[in-house]
Amino acid sequence: MRIDILTLFPNMFTGVFNESILKKAQEKQAVSINVINFRDFADNKHKTVDDYPYGGGAGMVLKPQPIFDAVAQVTKHSERPRIILLCPQGERYTQKKAEELAKEEHLVLICGHYEGYDERIREHLVTDEISIGDYVLTGGELGAMVIVDSVVRLLPGVLGNEASPLHDSYSSGLLEHPHYTRPADFRGMKVPEVLLSGNHRLIEEWRAKQSLRRTFLRRPDLLENCELTEKQKQWLEEFKKEQR
Ligand code: SAM
Repeated sequence: MRIDILTLFPNMFTGVFNESILKKAQEKQAVSINVINFRDFADNKHKTVDDYPYGGGAGMVLKPQPIFDAVAQVTKHSERPRIILLCPQGERYTQKKAEELAKEEHLVLICGHYEGYDERIREHLVTDEISIGDYVLTGGELGAMVIVDSVVRLLPGVLGNEASPLHDSYSSGLLEHPHYTRPADFRGMKVPEVLLSGNHRLIEEWRAKQSLRRTFLRRPDLLENCELTEKQKQWLEEFKKEQR
């Protein structure tokens, strides 16, 4: 996969992309990430990328020209690039969207700043508008990092089998079960017996039940879109009774 990030603050990405799994993913050539300053594409003498809003009002607006030209340059050899605008008014980002983007060959992420973008960028350039949550950041860079991290870890070969993303929260539609490690007794706080039993069938069942319980207690909204097995429906009834 290739990812191009258009930003006015390329240095913000240095630490995040040069550590841990994102660093290894680039070394393994699972992904190539290019951070590009779109100010370099401004066609005016002072390399200005923003201007006052027509109609007046506070804040500066990102001009269309540098962003249109930067996107044209990075996509000139691309067949079907996904051109993603980071903005708080976009579709709220989810694991499902990360899975969808992980199947693409080329992502272009556009990071805004200031008051916002010239509307023609939204209307005539981008394929997606993504918000990473219902709050307003100063710029799109943190959002772009969130998208890159969540997509790259899904690419084949990036995580080892032992850290498969298939069981993570949201991938199955539910939150993940609790985890424990040694010691079995930490200052009187004990690990559930079943996990020490060595009985894989019982352990799997315990995990499946805990995953459902956790989702029921913390994110019941997720259950509305889940197809539950008969067993899961029984467990759900048990949890509801426990609550009464
Ligand atoms: N005036 C804009 C509005 O009310 O919709 C907010 C602009 S914000 C201060 C500047 C930039 O930060 C945006 O253009 C976008 O790139 C980024 N940004 C802010 N909040 C975001 C969010 N929740 N998700 C993704 N990007 C965000």
